[in-house]
Amino acid sequence: MSNEYRMCTRCVMDTTADDIVFDERGVCNYCTEFLERSSHVIFQNPETRRKELEDLVRRIKKDGEGKRYDCVVGVSGGVDSSWVLVKAVELGLRPLAVHMDNGWNSELAQSNIANLVRKLRVDLYTHVIDWNEYRSLMQAFFDADVIDVELLYDNAMLGVDYGQAAKHDVNYILSGTNQATEGMRMPSNWNWFKYDKRNIKALAKHFANITLKTFPSFSTINFIQYEFLRKIRWISFLDYMEYNKFESMGSLQRDFAYKPYPYKHYESVFTRFYQGYILPEKFGVDKRKLHLATLVVSGQITREEALKSLDGIPYPTDEELAQDRVYFLKKMGWTETQLSNYLKRPEKAHDSYPSEKKLYTFCAKVYKTFKQ
Ligand SMILES: [Zn+2]
Repeated sequence: MSNEYRMCTRCVMDTTADDIVFDERGVCNYCTEFLERSSHVIFQNPETRRKELEDLVRRIKKDGEGKRYDCVVGVSGGVDSSWVLVKAVELGLRPLAVHMDNGWNSELAQSNIANLVRKLRVDLYTHVIDWNEYRSLMQAFFDADVIDVELLYDNAMLGVDYGQAAKHDVNYILSGTNQATEGMRMPSNWNWFKYDKRNIKALAKHFANITLKTFPSFSTINFIQYEFLRKIRWISFLDYMEYNKFESMGSLQRDFAYKPYPYKHYESVFTRFYQGYILPEKFGVDKRKLHLATLVVSGQITREEALKSLDGIPYPTDEELAQDRVYFLKKMGWTETQLSNYLKRPEKAHDSYPSEKKLYTFCAKVYKTFKQ
């Protein structure tokens, strides 16, 4: 294997993904696998898709009879989840919007969510995370030099969404996860397994000497309990419609006074500082590539447009990066030296500490065999 830099000739994935391989035309395994796995979803026959959506909506309504809500929609303030909420209401569903506030939401995200639920007349439940506990956990992840600091947000969000669904006896969580804009597989060296409560607990104990108190964690066992015993289904709702991010954005701006963010997932100040600065600087990972590669392959932008977007730093402007850097230091209580020391230290693997990734892989294998 050579370590030479190379980029796919069809999408924009490159050798920063550790298991990328190229065929004789220079096309990578990421976009090839994505097309094999997701073409039937993205390029589905419109008639079939419409019918599947009708069936799903009918099922949700039926299972929700006599209940206050028939589904939970997790909203981050981003386009994908906002669009799920709009479509759910349009289709006559009765969603409860659920939002998690981990202390890093941008004002823009807050106002986008507020406008949306007001105009749609939807109830909103906001779970505000205990900031002191959350900051200690973040600090533990930084001290551990593991890549996926956002595991904390993603894990807690699962805990909150499933928890609210269970509380209101609702069987469906409609999510903004979808094939058309994020269906390409995340390289395994770019993030970590999201149901890993054990990993969070271990890092918290080892680096901050704390146990989880109010953090709404989510484990593999929780997943099995919710999905199989309580029969709560996680639905990638946008896969049931022809989802074009740019058209949806236009409609949100027109009808819901929605204000866009410059990049995907930039609704949280930490997420943008993490994706735009920490990931590229410390871990050599630029997540824009995966997102843009997906949009190229699903036909929403051209490869040239993607390459142009990749030009320059993963931040709207240098000033905004500088602002977020100051905000981050202040909120975490760090000095410049602490940040630069953190960025210089080498990465450590999540599974140098206890983890339930193997447990999940094992359960998934058993389930698959059983199902066959
Ligand atoms: Zn490719």
